[in-house]
Amino acid sequence: MQHQALLENYLRQLHLATFAQNYQTFAQDAARGNLPYERYLLALCEAEVAQREAHRVERAIAAAKFPVLKELSTFDFDAITNLSKQRVVELARGEYIAKKETILLIGNPGLGKTHIATGLALEACKQAKKVRFYGVASLINDLLVAQKDLRLSKFMSQMLKLDLLVLDELGFIPFSKDSAQLLFQCCSDLYERVSILVTSNLRFADWNQLFGDERMTGALLDRLTHRAHILEFVGESYRFRQRLLQEKMEEQKLVENRATVR
Ligand code: ADP
Ligand code: MG
Repeated sequence: MQHQALLENYLRQLHLATFAQNYQTFAQDAARGNLPYERYLLALCEAEVAQREAHRVERAIAAAKFPVLKELSTFDFDAITNLSKQRVVELARGEYIAKKETILLIGNPGLGKTHIATGLALEACKQAKKVRFYGVASLINDLLVAQKDLRLSKFMSQMLKLDLLVLDELGFIPFSKDSAQLLFQCCSDLYERVSILVTSNLRFADWNQLFGDERMTGALLDRLTHRAHILEFVGESYRFRQRLLQEKMEEQKLVENRATVR
């Protein structure tokens, strides 16, 4: 009993919580299976490492601040014909992050851009990457607040520690000249140092309208499209189509019911 208390105390000191949790049941299994001591120790180490990895991924996902968690596995690639599943799966491997490349997801609302952006960013979290998901409006807000509090450079140095910045919904809300400039400066600072994943409902030709400054828009587009993976989403809103489909099925049922009643 004294040994047990001492062991558990040591395990706590060594921050081996999963060892502490498993050592007794694993010892019983090892005795039952007549396993050598090394195998027992190996099993304890494996469980500890797996648990730490799971915690690390959980922390990375929490730090990314996703508005909603969406996995690539729940995306119906058949619903959107011009989006190559293979390309998305390849991107999910994360080489673009190592190369500090950009991803642009462009298309009308409701086609799954935010879903794919979240799915790719989640994969990055699983690969031990530092990710932050931002709606463009809230990034601009944070930039403005940081500027007002004279801590813009501190804010940017935090951003530069990221591996991937997701900028969701560029183009939904028009912004002031100051905001546009701040966003431009932010993207310029990150350029070739941090991967950026942008989703937008705007075609490139319409970006001028948003930034209100042709030269700045040109420079921003130049940075974002240089060595970028551009995925276009074309079609009709997924949810809208799901609803139409559902309505059609209900109508069909109604017709069938009427037929059987007769
Ligand atoms: P966007 O960002 O292009 O406006 P979203 O990613 O927000 O579109 O998609 C709207 C909703 O429809 C989300 O709940 C998303 O999960 C779902 N959705 C869109 N496309 C698909 C798809 N192909 N497969 C599964 N769910 C989809
Ligand atoms: Mg979206």
